[in-house]
Amino acid sequence: MTADLSRIWIGGRFVAGAAGTRPVVNPATGAPFADAPEGSVDQALEALAAARAAQPAWGAKAPLERAAVMHRIAGLIRAHADPLARLVVQEQGKPIAEARGEVAGAAEFFTYFAEFARRIEGEILPSDAPGEQIWIQRVPLGVVAAIIPWNYPAALVSRKVAPALIAGNTIVLKPHEETPLSALYMARLMAEAGVPDGVVNIVTGAGPTVGAALAGHPDVDLVTMTGSVPTGRRIAEAAAPNLVPVSLELGGKAPLIVMEDADLDLAVASAVTSRFMNCGQVCICNERMLLHEAIHDAFLERFLAATRALRLGDPMAETTDLGPKLSLAELEKVERMVAAAVAAGAEPILQGGRPEAPPIPGGFWLTPTVLARVTPAMGIMQDEIFGPVVPVMKVSGFDEALQIANESRYGLSAYLFTRDMTRIMRAVQDVRFGELYINRIGPEALQGYHTGYRNSGPGGDDGRHGLETYLRKKTVYVNWSGRSPVALMPWGG
Ligand code: NAD
Repeated sequence: MTADLSRIWIGGRFVAGAAGTRPVVNPATGAPFADAPEGSVDQALEALAAARAAQPAWGAKAPLERAAVMHRIAGLIRAHADPLARLVVQEQGKPIAEARGEVAGAAEFFTYFAEFARRIEGEILPSDAPGEQIWIQRVPLGVVAAIIPWNYPAALVSRKVAPALIAGNTIVLKPHEETPLSALYMARLMAEAGVPDGVVNIVTGAGPTVGAALAGHPDVDLVTMTGSVPTGRRIAEAAAPNLVPVSLELGGKAPLIVMEDADLDLAVASAVTSRFMNCGQVCICNERMLLHEAIHDAFLERFLAATRALRLGDPMAETTDLGPKLSLAELEKVERMVAAAVAAGAEPILQGGRPEAPPIPGGFWLTPTVLARVTPAMGIMQDEIFGPVVPVMKVSGFDEALQIANESRYGLSAYLFTRDMTRIMRAVQDVRFGELYINRIGPEALQGYHTGYRNSGPGGDDGRHGLETYLRKKTVYVNWSGRSPVALMPWGG
């Protein structure tokens, strides 16, 4: 398919962006390579109206019928995996091998949630009265407004759209303004798969216009957003007057704890991958390392060697490990964080930065930095870096590691490498993060529940618990006795 990516998708029609166009920049070259349509506030409202109009019929379909459409979407994503992965690389900059994984995931979300067609169940409860049944049903919410970030421009479309669809909802999704093309490509695939008009709508455009219009609209039944903490807060505020549920998947500051009894090869390889995949731009990335003093030096020696061996290069090349940052603004943010850490006393034991001989001139290249002599209170240990930089601290024991790990306003993911069952169980009990990985790193599983504590945001996606976000419950009292059961009720609330 040579997809026309110049149009947004509203009510089944592909239309020009009413707010004009926006250049999409290739992070590897720093040069624009396409003009994306820029949606307007009116188009966001039009999309919500289309979603509202389409919902009753979509919600009334047998779940198997909805699932059939979803299986077709999954099939089309797989059939177009190569061009879609290349588009992800072009607009976002991750290495092609990672982009292929992302696209495979984008398809798998549809397959996985389609399998819930026969599993969205209710309950029958015993009544207090004879001749009566009480049913609790799971029903669609209605219209979902979804807002996504730039780091997984294809997979995050599916992570929101697939559960919304199987639940019987309709959806308006806004991709990030800097990575709108993967979503527009997927819109073409969804249209081809036979998604009825208005059931899915993709409106590109700016956060403060299109995004804010979606988040604050009174005729929305769920606002689900993945992105940064400040934007999450704005979205929660915009939605608050409407008293609608808001699900926020925000940033992370994952601690990676390595104890003296860990399998060091496994721990080092995991720490490197978890820090540098997608150029460090993953919410569950290894953001700070806490190393037991007994293995600190041996771990670091191997970690630095493995980090130095990473191949920075054209993200389209199969051999590349580390691609560019998304944008100059993102790159400069990371540089400022490193400079502030060094000014506060951190010591770069691997000094990265902008390479003198970049793989491609003009791209947003940044080589890895590893910082020692950090303290838990420093910004570099508290704020999300989202880049190829990692601070490392020596700890004298497990309790100290746990304490530092938990002292974070983020609470998304945490990593522990140890063979000691008592420590594992202590971590299970005492690590206050929504996701705990023991002797492994991400990615999170489809059947898990991707959820954060504290500022990582209320809400969650994936698995049957994530699906619950997209459903609501209805309690039905069925009296077939011919008598009034009310007399038996102790109260009339
Ligand atoms: P961001 O918050 O800048 O943008 C996210 C989305 O919000 C974009 O589509 C943007 O246009 C929109 N937006 C901006 N202002 C808005 C407003 N006023 N109203 C409505 N929408 C608005 O985030 P980002 O820079 O794209 O993404 C990086 C962040 O996302 C990181 O913090 C990362 O950890 C987080 N993230 C979290 C998860 C997770 O599952 N927890 C996954 C991926 C990324």
